[in-house]
Amino acid sequence: MILYRTPFMHTPANPFDQPGALHTEADGGLLVENGVIVASGGFPDLRAASPGAEVHDLRGSEGQPGMLLPGFVDTHVHYPQVRVLGGLGMPLLEWLDRNTLPEEARFVDAAYARSVAGEFLGGLAQHGTTTALVFGSHFASAMDEFFGLAQASGLRIVAGQVVSDRMLRSELHTTPERAYREGKALIGRWHGQGRLLYAVTPRFSLSASEGMLDACAALVRETPQARFTSHINENVQEVETVRRLFPQARDYLDTYEQAGLLGRRSVLAHNVHASDSELGRMAQHRCSVSHCPCSNSSLGSGFFPLARHLAAGVAVSLGTDVGGGTGFGLLKEGLQAYFLQQLMPGGHPLSPAHLLYLSTLAGAEALDLHGRTGDFSAGKAFDAVYLSPPAGTPLNAVMRHAEGPERVLAALFTLGGAADVRQVWVEGQTVYSTPEQFHAE
Ligand SMILES: [Zn+2]
Repeated sequence: MILYRTPFMHTPANPFDQPGALHTEADGGLLVENGVIVASGGFPDLRAASPGAEVHDLRGSEGQPGMLLPGFVDTHVHYPQVRVLGGLGMPLLEWLDRNTLPEEARFVDAAYARSVAGEFLGGLAQHGTTTALVFGSHFASAMDEFFGLAQASGLRIVAGQVVSDRMLRSELHTTPERAYREGKALIGRWHGQGRLLYAVTPRFSLSASEGMLDACAALVRETPQARFTSHINENVQEVETVRRLFPQARDYLDTYEQAGLLGRRSVLAHNVHASDSELGRMAQHRCSVSHCPCSNSSLGSGFFPLARHLAAGVAVSLGTDVGGGTGFGLLKEGLQAYFLQQLMPGGHPLSPAHLLYLSTLAGAEALDLHGRTGDFSAGKAFDAVYLSPPAGTPLNAVMRHAEGPERVLAALFTLGGAADVRQVWVEGQTVYSTPEQFHAE
């Protein structure tokens, strides 16, 4: 057994429902056996109760601040879009045509796919993300490359082949029959292997016919524990096009609803332009929404109506939406969510506890993995990120002088990033660490 000694913070409850949900330990202890937390609390008490445990003291030299947080959970991020990050200046549909789909077409080459998969998984781990719902490639061979490296990375990855049969580039189109056949084979090879799970993933209704959505629904129905993910209501022009393509549908949500794709394990990305009827039906289906504030800002998609989601009872988590977003950092994503709610009329004020919840437990709940990850309660896996800003940085200074834990947490979201990530674990196994000298005084 290992007893980790470190200051830590987590949100074992939902701060949107429970004001006292943020739990902090200034001298914390987490007792871990076979990768699972068996006790969580103050270090002195745990030490006294488990004198035989091997102590791993994460605190560095005197005066070096650090904080352990649950590993971040990213509920919307595209593996084939690493190299299109930074494509500023375009709205969604133009950004897809000019910036992104030409890049995604390159994934027909398995070697190309493998090299980007490495960059992608490295990007997650470097930023302290331990669990991700990943939009895949249109090519089954590229997904085999991805899943192979994902399994080796140790990260918790939920992902699937992206399928479409219209309105993209012809190389990215498939047929419902082929989508079903390739999906079935990928599920057979990867779903439930180690920490991998499969997510059935039509790109969006704009590029998926009713026949394609039906093929997806068959895969969901026939696969125990399969997740479902897609895009919805991201951009006004996109919503209008979907309305034209599905004249019988009540709205965008109805295109997925009629196919039977919505349920507790469905995650829909964006939902910036949702109607009240759609929000009410999402709550009924218990599906959740991945809010991608950096992407919404960068592509000018609009203000996310968080207060309306909360009022309707729709669960919300955070997605970085690489490459429409601006990078892999959930800390940055939390800050941008805060900014947008500050700026928009009727915005919901977000506290540091809200930001931590949105970037950890909320994502685990969205993926129905909250029995396994998302906070430091006993019984959960030790999925964690230790943040320790290098000496001489503003974050280091702020953390050393902060008055109280909420202030530290706010500073982490405001100033923190990959450069502050010292070590990352999934189920007790180190999946990323930086050399000691980067952080020494
Ligand atoms: Zn996306």
